[in-house]
Formats: sequence, structure tokens, C-alpha cells
Amino acid sequence: MRVATRAAAEAEGRSGHKLTLHAPVYRPLMQYATDRGLREQLFRAHATRASEHGPAELDNSPLMRELLELRHEEARLLGHASYADLSLVPKMAESPQRVLDFLRDLARRARAQALADREAMQAFAARELGLPELQAWDHAFVSEKLKQARFAFGSDEVRQYFTEPRVLDGLFRLIESLFDVSIRPGQASVWHDSVRYYDVERAGEPIAGLYLDLHARNGKESGAWMDEVRQRWRRPDGSGLQLPVAHVICNFAPPVGDQPALLTHDDLITLFHEFGHALHHVLTRVDELAVSGIAGVEWDAVELPSQFMENFCWEWDVLSRLSGHGLTGAALPRELFDKMVAARHFQSALAMVRHCEYGLLDMRLHLEADAATRIDAVADDVRAEVAVLPMPPFHRFAHSFTHLFDGAYAAGYYGYAWAEVLSADAYSAFEEAGPFDAATGRRWREAVLEVGGSRPALESFIAFRGREPRLDALLRHQGIA
Ligand SMILES: [Zn+2]
Repeated sequence: MRVATRAAAEAEGRSGHKLTLHAPVYRPLMQYATDRGLREQLFRAHATRASEHGPAELDNSPLMRELLELRHEEARLLGHASYADLSLVPKMAESPQRVLDFLRDLARRARAQALADREAMQAFAARELGLPELQAWDHAFVSEKLKQARFAFGSDEVRQYFTEPRVLDGLFRLIESLFDVSIRPGQASVWHDSVRYYDVERAGEPIAGLYLDLHARNGKESGAWMDEVRQRWRRPDGSGLQLPVAHVICNFAPPVGDQPALLTHDDLITLFHEFGHALHHVLTRVDELAVSGIAGVEWDAVELPSQFMENFCWEWDVLSRLSGHGLTGAALPRELFDKMVAARHFQSALAMVRHCEYGLLDMRLHLEADAATRIDAVADDVRAEVAVLPMPPFHRFAHSFTHLFDGAYAAGYYGYAWAEVLSADAYSAFEEAGPFDAATGRRWREAVLEVGGSRPALESFIAFRGREPRLDALLRHQGIA
């Protein structure tokens, strides 16, 4: 970051560092800057951006009001009581009230642990950092210091144990044993030397294809995603069955020299996540284009199969099989794994309460008829109801909450927590039976992966779990319950 901020200043013919509010600069600065005044200055700028506290031409207030009013009008024209009601039509959650209840329940159950997280932070700041009165611009800084003090290990240390060939081999084996398929290298033209193609087969017959493009390179879009190349489709012209093909794209560090590429634990989670999407797409048995694979799946249930797969990355039995030190071949030490699990739970209740706050704000702004004229009041109200970390009165979170106002997540922000609850609860069936249990794998494949959007996601969930979703598993996974 230092190099980048200095270069940014030099590019303008100035000395020193140019600091901006962009995430790659702002986040590390708030975590690591020891200068409290600098943190406060940046926090103020960040918390008030696009609000009435800054230049009038950058103030989003009138736009936010107009957007909310227009959305409300759109919903009324289409015969719905509110935009929240309209937004939920293609989703799994059946009503705004159901979403409000869900978020409030989750926030309530995480609250005691979140208060304990806050107290631990306050005590540590007073004792070790000479900060008896915590301010909003201290939170990230103190959290980072506390995390380092409690769990001193680097992601680089973990990375030495996960070589890409071994991880892929372990992942394929897990999929093969759970879902009764085999994945083998196949023949297809590829768009880059490092891209690999695989045939997915069952009982020796091909059922799907899969491209893997895992390494970062110049000119490649950043991030990780799965997408459909082709869908399973029984063609109406009688020309037969088109098999599904997916691609999984990641941006892992490429191999250096003749050493295999090494993956961090976060890389591993990303890989499993995208494979969850890919399995949902390629294992479908639906022949109808509009609902085959991931097509037509309710918007708030799409992340269920992907977040579900992430759980395997926290199983000792799975990780110990996937690991093998790049030089010595040694498996991941149990002690290191235990530290990773403890770090996973660090301040998870605070994060959950914050998620609930954002979700409630989003839902209420799109549900209450007069919300457009009292955005700040609704935000204050929600904060008073669930937030645990106090924020200064000048804070204007909603004004830069793009999830809400650029459309895609309007009255849908709750979807993150919703999918996490579903996936944790679904995965707990594997915790009961063991991560390699073939019967549970078969049930998951038949009830969820193979049916895609051909029936409501809740029906699929109940077919697998034998009941409606519950919050308990997620709270347990986060170390809260
Ligand atoms: Zn995803």
C-alpha cells in the first residue's frame, strides 16, 4: 500500500502519500495507522461522504429520496403494498414481515456475544493501547491489534501446506465419493495454456463438462465466479440432450518456476464456494432450459450450494487430507488448525449484528410508506434497536450504501445472512453423519443439486433436512451459541 500511495502522490507531482477513501487504502489505514488524529480525519471523511455534511453537489440525499419514492410507486402500480413486497416475489422469503422477524431473531441471539466482543475490545484497548475511551475510528485498529495478540499466525504459514494439485485432487475425491460422479481430464479447446477442462461422468457416461481457470494473469478480470457455458437442455427440435458445461474462474497466485501453486485457506474457501455453484449447475437432471441448473433458482437461495461447500474447509478430516507441505509433504499441524478455527470466530457476533442492522435498514426503507422522507430517522431507529458499537451522530451510512440504491440488493440485503443460515443448517446434516457420508451426499444431490429451479428452494431444503431451516447451526459455526 505504501508504494501505491506514494506513487499516487508522485503522479500528481507531489511528495509524501496520497490517501483516498477507496477500500484498498482506507481499510488498511483504519486497521494499522497508529496516528489517531489521522484515523479520525479519514473516518469522518468516509462516514459523511455523499451526505449533507459535504459539498452539496455530492450530496445523495435528494437522489435517495427520489429512488425510494419511485420504487414505492412502481410497486403500487404493480399491485403491491410496498417495494419490499414486490422485491420478494421471486425470492424464497415469503414476506417482509418474515424477513424482519428473521433479522431481529438473529440479532437478538447474537447480542450477548456481541456485547462480550465489545467489552473485550474495550478492556484490551485500555490496558494495552492506552485508549480508555473507544471512538468509532478506533474499532478497526483495536480489533486488528487484539486479533494479532490472540492468534499470532500468518496466512502465509498456512499456505505452505496447500499445494494446488493436492487440493484439487482432494476436492475431486470428496465430490466423487459424495455425489457418485467422477471428474477426469477431458478434451476441449481452451482460451489460455493454464486453463484445464474436465469431463464429469457417472457410470462411465459423460453428464457434464467443467473448465477451471484458476490463476491470476495480466488482462484477466479480478475476483472469483462460476458461470454457465451451456445449460442442460432437451432440445425441442428432437436433436437430443445438450449437456451442461460450467467454468470456474479464480485469481490465485500462479505457480512459480516448477513449484506447484500454493493456496491460502481463503483461496481454498473460494475454490470450494465456486465448486458449490458449479455442482448446482452441472449435476442438474432438469431438461427444461428456464429452470435447469442454476437457472430460475430464487435469488436468496442461489448461494445455498456454494456457502454449503465452504463448510468442508473447516473440517479437520477434510483439511488434513487436502494438505501436504510443499517441501516436506507434512500434513497441516492440528495446532495450527485450532488457531485458524479460533480466528474464524473472532468478533463474529459483532459482524453478525452489523449485518442484521444493514438488513433491517434496507428492509424498512423499502417497506414503510413514508421512509423516503425520513431516511436518517429510520437509520437511527434501526441502530438504536440492534447496533452494539456506538457511532457518532454525524455518521451517514445509508448515503454510501450502494447495495441498496444501485438496485441489485434493494430489499434483498438480508439474503447474505439468509443463505448462511440455510447452508449452515443444511451442512449440520453432514456434521451429524460425518463429512464423507455417502447417504447424506446422495440426499443433498437429489434434493437440492439435481432439481435446480424446478421447484421452490424451501421445498428442496425440507426434502433434504426433513424440516424447515433453523438458526442454531449458523450460531454454532460462528462460535456464538
Ligand atoms: Zn457465490
